Order: sequence, then structure tokens, then C-alpha cells
Amino acid sequence: MARPYSIAVDLGGTHIRAALFLSQDTTPVRRTRGLTPQTPDQTAILEALARAIQDLIPPDADLANISIAVGTPGPVDPFLGLVLSAPNIPSWHALPLRDWLLSRFAATIHIANDANLAALGELSYGAGQGATDLVYLTIGTGIGGGVITAGRLLLGSRGLGAELGHVTVDPSGPQCGCGRNGHLEALASGPAIAREARARLAAGASSSLSQTYRSDPLAITTERIAEAARQGDAFSRTLVADISTLLARFIADCLALFSPQRVILGGGVMGLGELLIAPIREGVTHYAMAAAYVEQLTICAAQLGDDAGLLGGLALCLNPSLQPSSPAS
Ligand SMILES: [Zn+2]
Repeated sequence: MARPYSIAVDLGGTHIRAALFLSQDTTPVRRTRGLTPQTPDQTAILEALARAIQDLIPPDADLANISIAVGTPGPVDPFLGLVLSAPNIPSWHALPLRDWLLSRFAATIHIANDANLAALGELSYGAGQGATDLVYLTIGTGIGGGVITAGRLLLGSRGLGAELGHVTVDPSGPQCGCGRNGHLEALASGPAIAREARARLAAGASSSLSQTYRSDPLAITTERIAEAARQGDAFSRTLVADISTLLARFIADCLALFSPQRVILGGGVMGLGELLIAPIREGVTHYAMAAAYVEQLTICAAQLGDDAGLLGGLALCLNPSLQPSSPAS
């Protein structure tokens, strides 16, 4: 039975964003955004999370009629409701988040990886509507992923799938945020693209960005690179082409693994838009193992922006079976 109220929370390293939804309505009744406490004290972050939820509970609501979905970064065991680690919240290790929240709120509580929730958001209300099998990649400060197969999240035995940003694409590549080397995130996230641009400029490459680089290397961002590429800067165009090749190879691998109907690309780096997506489409056709993988495939931009996770939380509250509750379910 559908719960009348849903509360979705997107717990990030910088912000805690939350929204209250009534029934199936995707326009939140109310939404809040607060800062994630920057402290090693895990209780402080838990208390901030609890406050964000408490602030959204309607005074006349019965907790038994409220579902809460919390998305957190990093590996999450959604079956047990454990946050195994959170990249931007170092004090969280094997944290029993669901049990802690249940001690505060006698509601139905779902814990999920944030990118998995965003994948559910796009599936239910965004670029994935009507699809049953899709791969979602969010490319921003990091790279997150979610795989939907037969209409549900693909989670695996411990619920840790699918961390697409932490697949090794170049063993000799730079160190990833997770500590390993050459993961997709270490090569194609926003900071990785900016770092590569700075390295090429430091090596003497000529670009309309050279002056900016000399005065402030940290001003070289994906936004600046996109702007320069749009204005015809050959250096920036080459860099974007190199990133699109890398992503196209990776997506072709995803086709071989998951055979999706759609690949949905979100996150801040997708501000590059067609500048990045068009060559990715071409590249995927080139790298796919066989034409059949791309014949009915759509590669497109995500539609929900920063709200994908919150709307994914709503989708999960309304339809818990979107996320398997155990390996066998
Ligand atoms: Zn990694």
C-alpha cells in the first residue's frame, strides 16, 4: 500500500538536501537544504540528518504512514541499511544508518547508494521513463553509477553494485578518490579533466586557456574548458574528444556487460552537453562488440539534474521493490 507521505534525503559531503512529497506528486510539498557538518564526529552528522527529516514531518502526520529514503555516497549495504564508508564523511564506517534512524523515527526507512537513487529517479521520472534496462552514469566531482535491469536496481549479493566510477580503465593511471589507481573517476570526473588540462598546459600546450592557467591554474575548470571548446579552442576540443573516447570505451564495456536500452549521462560534466555526448555516441558505435548492442540503444543526457536523487527517493518510497531488499528477492 502506498504511503501518503515520502521523505527523500540526499546526504552529500557538502549538503544535506531533503524533500517531502505527498502521495505520487513529484513536486515536493516542502524542501530543505542544509550544510553537512564538517566534523569527524559522526554523531553530529547523524543529528543533522535527523533534524533534516524531523523538519519535514508534517505535524499532523502519523509516522506509520511515512516512508523515508536516504541516499548516501559510497558503498552502502541496502539490505542491512549499513553505510560501509562514505568518501566525503571519513568517520562513517559500517554505520548502521537504518537502525539509527529507526531509533528516532518509527517509519519505513530505505537506505541506498546516492547514484543508485538517482538512477531510480531518472528511470521513474526522467530520461529513463519507459525503459526496463538502463545504465546511469553521473559525472561530476566523482563518478557514480546505477544499473537498472528488468526494471529494478542491479545490486548483487551484498548490495554494493554498481560502482561504475570505480572500474579500472588504466592501471597506470592517476590515483582515484578511493585510493586505487586508474579508475574511471580518476580519469573522467570534473576534477580529473581539469587536472589533465592543467598538466597539458604545464607541458606547454597552446590554448586560449594558457593565460588563465598562468595567472591561476585552479581557474581551469570543466566549465572553462567547455566554454573554450565552444569558441573553437583546438586544445580544449582535443581534450573533450579524448574524454569522450575514454567514456565511449567504458560505455561500450557496459553494453557488453548489461545490454541496456538506454545510457543516461548526468552530473556537472554533462554541462558539456552535445559537445561530449555526440562523440560518445559515435565512439560507442565504434567500440561496441557488435552492432546489435547499439541498434536499439539511446545515449542521452539526464533530465532531472540535482533532483534525480530526491525523486529516486520518492520512487523508492512509492515502490520499494525497485531496490531488491535481499540478494534473493
Ligand atoms: Zn576509485
